[in-house]
Amino acid sequence: MSDAPRIVVLPGDGIGPEIVDAARRLLDSLGEFEYDERLVGGCSIDAHGIALTEEVLEACRAADAVLLGAVGGPKWDTTDPEAPRPEQGLLGLRKGMGLYANLRPVRPSPALVGSSPLREERIAGTDLLVVRELTGGIYFGDSGREGDAAHDTCSYTAAEIERIARTAFEAARRRAGSSGRDPRVTSVDKANVLETSRLWREVVTGIAPEYGDVALDHLLVDNAAMQLVSRPADFDVIVTENLFGDILSDEAAMLTGSLGMLPSASLGADGAPGLFEPVHGSAPDIAGRGVANPLATFLSVAMMLRHGLERPGEAARIEAAVDAVLAQGLRTPDLAAGTLATPRMPDVPAEIEAGTAEMTDAVLAALGA
Ligand code: NAD
Repeated sequence: MSDAPRIVVLPGDGIGPEIVDAARRLLDSLGEFEYDERLVGGCSIDAHGIALTEEVLEACRAADAVLLGAVGGPKWDTTDPEAPRPEQGLLGLRKGMGLYANLRPVRPSPALVGSSPLREERIAGTDLLVVRELTGGIYFGDSGREGDAAHDTCSYTAAEIERIARTAFEAARRRAGSSGRDPRVTSVDKANVLETSRLWREVVTGIAPEYGDVALDHLLVDNAAMQLVSRPADFDVIVTENLFGDILSDEAAMLTGSLGMLPSASLGADGAPGLFEPVHGSAPDIAGRGVANPLATFLSVAMMLRHGLERPGEAARIEAAVDAVLAQGLRTPDLAAGTLATPRMPDVPAEIEAGTAEMTDAVLAALGA
């Protein structure tokens, strides 16, 4: 058997197959990888009547990493609660693979800082990672209705907090390894009000001495929401519980202003495979036209190399190659719409419109592949 990492590839629906094909070209240019391509989402519903089969889940569990495109589309939209839905594939993967940590980096490419809703001087230099707990908290606690009252319960165990805190400390270390920066974790809670937050702070503080090389600070969530827009460049790794993370990761994502640029990773227990995917959906409006922006998927491949396959050097090379093609002025239509009309970036050359294939060629060329 070959030593090549075994990657389960789940192209999914809409533009999924186009961007995942581009990602395979990128991976092939870096070395040898073994692919196992499977169905998930709408295409799996068409073939098997469900969005994720047990067989595909088993293959994912046995892989070194899983790369997903996107799922969903109007063909499978339904209001029938009994009918299968594509996103059940994603939920099934999260649950079945035990993925409890969602990682979303926010690092606007220098050539795209003009697309941010923030002023350039505020956003410049931002390079942060939001680590969100994915399986606990108020989304999974007891909920119900009694007459005209309703409740949702937030609960966390020390063990759940400890494992996500460790993910954050380790991610900070890995990032420092490839960027040379001093690692820092900012833990976000609401410890002045919530008991779960007080436990959260206690547990995070308790394990911090094991990561003496990583600085730790704490922020209340309301303050964190403000600091994220007023001084985003000061953050390194932000770790927080499920509900706060849901909100803060979307707030942080908007700092870049470019949906087609955002990667994500979902990680489980040490040694178990992670799931790597772009944040955007299946973009049915542009599917099949060869214009999908593959960069969020390329940056997801970089996350897979850094956080899933222990190949941080290649991850950094991909990120640098993406920056380089954007600095050359290359833009898929989604990016061009955001920045073309903004004459605030005198150093960026005139924009050259590119489709998925041209953008992929340019990234491969920048990698020297
Ligand atoms: P979307 O992210 O698919 O698209 C929003 C807009 O952004 C569209 O105009 C689209 O053309 C554009 N866009 C998105 N990614 C792009 C890319 N890589 N390059 C160029 N343009 C891009 O969100 P939506 O329209 O709300 O949802 C479409 C479908 O995707 C729905 O079925 C939804 O359920 C599904 N979805 C899936 C995921 C996932 O698989 N993780 C996430 C979100 C939405």
